[in-house]
Amino acid sequence: MRIILLGPPGAGKGTQAKSMSESLGIVHISSGDLLRDHQARGTELGSTARSYMQQGLLVPDELIIGMIQERIKLSDAEKGYVLDGFPRTVEQAGALEAALEKQGETIDRVANIRVSEEELIMRLGGRWICRHCQRPYHEVNAAPRKHGECDDCEGELYQREDDVPEAVSKRIKVFAEQTVPLIGYYNGKGNLVEVDGEGSIEDVRESLLSAVS
Ligand code: AMP
Repeated sequence: MRIILLGPPGAGKGTQAKSMSESLGIVHISSGDLLRDHQARGTELGSTARSYMQQGLLVPDELIIGMIQERIKLSDAEKGYVLDGFPRTVEQAGALEAALEKQGETIDRVANIRVSEEELIMRLGGRWICRHCQRPYHEVNAAPRKHGECDDCEGELYQREDDVPEAVSKRIKVFAEQTVPLIGYYNGKGNLVEVDGEGSIEDVRESLLSAVS
């Protein structure tokens, strides 16, 4: 099963993609995590991407498309995957479709997680992430048991450079301008489902699982 999760920054795509991948037995592929991993390893792609990411801008399509095409060819993606954060432009969606078509494959479902702008700003402003397992926390709504430490793996919690207010507003604007057209794109293909992302993590998880099954 090949699934795409669409939604604005802060919609919960990372949390939900991780949980869906565990329930469905398929891999979670996050373009943002792959880029942050490149940065941590000091690759050329990582340093090029960093200047865009810090400003809340999209990394150029040609860099992202190549990175994802390589990732989905790995053997752990054979049974399927949940794509989180990719595609983010119509050009990326077209490139993905063309790559899949060559292997006689298609995307089965695209789930769009909807969350209001006020809620997104609140969520991203207080977000902390585990450096080790990427689990997100929120200083008010979902605080870790011990300050600065992940409940699951005891990893160090950090705030993303692009969760500062200027980058958050830019990311929301970029989503509206460059990613929202994808909703129409996939709707036209007949495999789009809409999910309300403002309930509890468990409620959203249930809605997503029933929408994609
Ligand atoms: P995310 O972790 O999905 O919020 O992504 C963090 C940042 O990585 C984004 O704000 C972009 O700068 C970059 N990024 C992630 N995925 C993509 C993509 N599909 N296309 C372009 N840039 C991306």
